[in-house]
Amino acid sequence: MTKFEPVIGLEVHLQLNTKSKMFCACPSGAKSDLPPNTAICPLCSGQPGALPVINEQAVMFALKAGLALNAQINLKSVFARKNYFYPDLPKGYQISQDSKPIISGGFIETQNADGATKKINIARAHLEEDAGKSMHGQDYSLIDLNRCGVPLLEIVSAPDMRSAAEAYNYLVNLKSIMQWLDISGCDMEKGELRVDVNLSLMPEGSDKFGTRIEIKNLNSFKAVKDALQYEISRQSGILSSGGAITQQTMLWNEDKAVTELMRNKETAQEYRYFPEPDLRPLVLNGDFIELVKKTMPMLPAQKKDFYIKTYGISAYDAALMTSDKDISSYFDEAVKQGATAKPAVNWIGTDILGKLNAENKEISSCPLKPKDLADLIGYIESGKISGKMAKEIFAQAWSGAKAVSELVESSGASQVNDEAQLEIWAKEAIAENPKAAADIKAGNSKAIGALVGSVMKKSKGKANPALLNKIFIKLIS
Ligand SMILES: [Zn+2]
Repeated sequence: MTKFEPVIGLEVHLQLNTKSKMFCACPSGAKSDLPPNTAICPLCSGQPGALPVINEQAVMFALKAGLALNAQINLKSVFARKNYFYPDLPKGYQISQDSKPIISGGFIETQNADGATKKINIARAHLEEDAGKSMHGQDYSLIDLNRCGVPLLEIVSAPDMRSAAEAYNYLVNLKSIMQWLDISGCDMEKGELRVDVNLSLMPEGSDKFGTRIEIKNLNSFKAVKDALQYEISRQSGILSSGGAITQQTMLWNEDKAVTELMRNKETAQEYRYFPEPDLRPLVLNGDFIELVKKTMPMLPAQKKDFYIKTYGISAYDAALMTSDKDISSYFDEAVKQGATAKPAVNWIGTDILGKLNAENKEISSCPLKPKDLADLIGYIESGKISGKMAKEIFAQAWSGAKAVSELVESSGASQVNDEAQLEIWAKEAIAENPKAAADIKAGNSKAIGALVGSVMKKSKGKANPALLNKIFIKLIS
């Protein structure tokens, strides 16, 4: 039986978080929760005679994306009209870029499950404006034009992916890079990142692509993976039994976990692209590109190296701290607030991420602030509290009601470091448990645990265990 290899390409629409819209001064992005039709003007509501002006910040964001994707920045790009009719598109066309996009080429490197690096090429990325939103009632429809004209960067990959897992990895990497650049919220639920999939199957070992289908309406990376797996097996079945694939656009039905036909090729759109007559070509000079280069933040790979060199933490720890931009920001802030790097990594990696996972929360909504973590680590290092007490303070601080410093000061939770007091307790413990003392003397150092435990009880957990160990060794030997 012939085996088939999938050929996958992805189109990602990224909503840029600029202050204003792509071609007018109306608020954009973060202001998307405004009441319907309050962030509009004659231009983005499609009034005749209103003229577009290119948003400089959107151009800068596109360049940042291009630089991070190792792509070519085109010094001259051209905006074009993409004509189609839809109620939430008042002009009857979308301003986009067609044959001369702002970004060409580029690539992303991803890791496959076997650890091998896979290079996925980017075909192009172009700037365009978003359409509005339709809301459908039982026998009426409402239009909200607030989203009309919000800048989008459409990033088109080459058909380089050969499995659903590779497509998934590509998306995770792409999203991470865009988050580090801080050019988009990348929240799929809010529509800030949208994915369309192109898929065809070819006989294994062939280099001739099969008939391509498109899948839309994918609301999460998991949906992309599931939809691809479903379509790959559906098409393999058809091809294996001698059938043929017809060029179609499909929708992913998440509830039923199946793809459904949206439209056939015959009903596909013809957009009649032509250069936008109201905008001159966008011409960039070298100074502008240099300016953007100066604002480029460290990307995950660079940041990882920076952590290893600056803080002497392991590659594993550095990878964990850069696995997400928000985790890295939290770690940076904790260190800035005075936390020692290594214990900060341990607390974040185990206690904080563990608790966030259990509560299904992101680190951006972590109830324990970086300052609290820095304080907690400071108290342990100065010997004011023990590691055990720190865990208790951590649990209390997690409720978010009180800061760590407040909890430590108000509880009187202060570790006892007074050697005279510790010695009194230690002598009592030896008197009460002469066998343990004899065992230690006979070389069984493990027996010291019983004595330390006894003092911890007397001190209500406040004795400094490290000091106590030394005192017992001194007293017994
Ligand atoms: Zn406007």
